[in-house]
Amino acid sequence: MDYFNYKDGQLYAEDIKVTDLTLRYGTPLYIYSRATLERHYKAFERALKAHNHLICYSVKSNSNLAVIALMASLGSGFDVVSEGELRRVKAAGGDTHRVVFSGVGKTREEIAYALNERIRCINVESEEELLVVSEEAKKAGVVAPVALRINPDVDARTLPAISTGLRSNKFGIWREDALRLYKRIASDPNLKAAGLDCHIGSQMTSSVPILEAADIMIDIYKELLSEGIKVDHIDLGGGLGVTYDEEQPPSPDDFFSGIIEKFSDLDCEIYIEPGRAMVANAGVLCCKVLYQKDNGSKHFVITDGSMSDLIRPALYGAHMTIENATLRKSDVLRKCDVVGPVCESDDFLGKDRMLAVRNSDILVVRGAGAYGSSMSSCYNSRRLCAEIMVSGDRANVVRRRQEFSQMWENEALAD
Ligand SMILES: *Cc1c(COP(=O)(O)O)cnc(C)c1O
Repeated sequence: MDYFNYKDGQLYAEDIKVTDLTLRYGTPLYIYSRATLERHYKAFERALKAHNHLICYSVKSNSNLAVIALMASLGSGFDVVSEGELRRVKAAGGDTHRVVFSGVGKTREEIAYALNERIRCINVESEEELLVVSEEAKKAGVVAPVALRINPDVDARTLPAISTGLRSNKFGIWREDALRLYKRIASDPNLKAAGLDCHIGSQMTSSVPILEAADIMIDIYKELLSEGIKVDHIDLGGGLGVTYDEEQPPSPDDFFSGIIEKFSDLDCEIYIEPGRAMVANAGVLCCKVLYQKDNGSKHFVITDGSMSDLIRPALYGAHMTIENATLRKSDVLRKCDVVGPVCESDDFLGKDRMLAVRNSDILVVRGAGAYGSSMSSCYNSRRLCAEIMVSGDRANVVRRRQEFSQMWENEALAD
């Protein structure tokens, strides 16, 4: 359930008609529902309340400052994967001490910046990175709290491009290297073994893989304890899936109930890093229908929204639900490909969709709150689009549509 519902054939974002918003703010337009975001955060809180925990919202799924600020106001921590994301958390008023820093390729400068901000934990992904963290901690005169990201070789059973916990992926440290590296951390005065970390993939629709990963992490936790190394948290990453089409992912309660049980006798906090499940269904992308054409075998609906605004369909072949913001009983459905203006054959938002469409209608792509705006680009010199956050009958512009000149403000002519 989200807060985008039809009343009398008109789609509403909470209490505001979507077509009123697109008239006022133009298209393409992202609309976020504040009530949905709050409900999702509270569902995660409820699912974990029986055990000490920290929710670290994954900033890369939607990095708009208003979303980050809302999460911070609800008490969330953050998972960041770059200095830019950490700076966004700061800019939005988030607490850097509730930030964990993930990513396979952090630069020395990023590590130094993060240590200077006193973040909660650096999730280290290689032995070489560990060395750099130690050097930078020494330079800064701090003890760096670290967790090793373990690659548990568990199949998240999701799309290959968003599966990260297999040996064939670039992520993490092998399980058999863990003990040796934790001993190295324990003997390094510049490092503190703060936690254990994993993130096996995204869009998981079953809790089986995360339970398998948790078992492996708890195994390592106990092995470390027997060696006299006590970490204070296990970070299980993100990955809970959402409904884009027919998927039936578990609720946070169901996803985590087995985890809570496994942790019940451990003196160890649970960290999680949800992104998609927090924001996907709290956002939609609205596009206006410009033209339609028929090539005999296909009917194309051409909108002003494209892969530059929302790349998931083009990049992963991801299915996202598309609806007309205005339903008319008399209109007949026909099979169409919904495409954008970008000069790439893969520029589509949906294929073979049953829609009734008139020119100038507003098409709404559901589930676009996660990996939508945050993955958008200016390809074809298309401006980054506007973003709105709705709360009840109020709407705030949380990102203005980019000005054309902003696209080239850092460019110059060569002499
Ligand atoms: C992307 C990512 C997440 C968030 O994953 P979701 O599937 O969006 O919940 C969490 N942790 C890490 C390390 C990530 O890279």
